[in-house]
Amino acid sequence: LFIALEGGDGAGKSTQAAAIAAWLEERHGVGVVVTREPGGTETGVKLRDVLLSDGGVPPRAEALLFAADRGHHVDTLIRPALRAGRAVITDRYMDSSIAYQGAGRDSDSEMIADLSRWATAGLLADVTVVLDVDPVEAARRRGDRGPQDHLEKEPAEFHRRVRQRFLDLAAADPDRYVVVDASGDPADVTATIVEALTPFVAA
Ligand code: C5P
Repeated sequence: LFIALEGGDGAGKSTQAAAIAAWLEERHGVGVVVTREPGGTETGVKLRDVLLSDGGVPPRAEALLFAADRGHHVDTLIRPALRAGRAVITDRYMDSSIAYQGAGRDSDSEMIADLSRWATAGLLADVTVVLDVDPVEAARRRGDRGPQDHLEKEPAEFHRRVRQRFLDLAAADPDRYVVVDASGDPADVTATIVEALTPFVAA
C-alpha cells in the first residue's frame, strides 16, 4: 500500500502521516515506513539543502532537482519497502511538483509530470490524500513559526495556484484521490482520513 499525502505548506501533512502510520500499525498490523520529499534519503537531504538554501535555484534546475530527489527516493527507499511488504506513507510526492513547479512557477505542467513519471519509472501512489487548507489561513496558523524556508515566502497568489492544482488533480482521478478539509482539529482530520482510507487497506 503506497499512500501519498499532498497539500500546501502548513496543512498538517507530517502530523497526519504519523497518525495514519499509527493507525495502520495498531489497527491493521501493517509495517509502515513514513518518509517525505524532498529529503527522504541521505542523498535527498543534500538535494533538499540545495533546494531550500537562500536564493534557491532557477526554475528548470529546481524542477530537475525535485525529480532527482524523487527518483532516488523511489529506487532506494520506496520500492524496496513495498517489495518487503511494508506500507509506505510519503509526505509529498509527484503532485507537489505538478502543483509547485507546474502551477506555482507556471512551468510546463505536462513536462513536469513526464519528468516525475520517468524519474519514478511510473510508480503511482495507490491513494493520494490531499489535505486542503486555505493558504492564507495556513500561513496565519503557523505565524509564530514563520516561513521555514524561502519557498514558503512565495506570494499568496502562488499558493492559491498550488492549492487549486492539487484540487484539479484530485478531481481528474477521483478513484485514486481523497480530498480532506484540513482546517479543523487535527484529530478530526485524522478520523476523516482513516475512514476514507479503510477501503484501500482492505483492498
Ligand atoms: O513540505 P516541506 O516543508 O518539506 O517542503 C519544503 C519546501 O519546499 C516548502 O516551502 C514547499 O513549499 C517547497 N516545495 C516546492 N516544490 C515541491 C515540494 C516542496 O516548492 N515540489
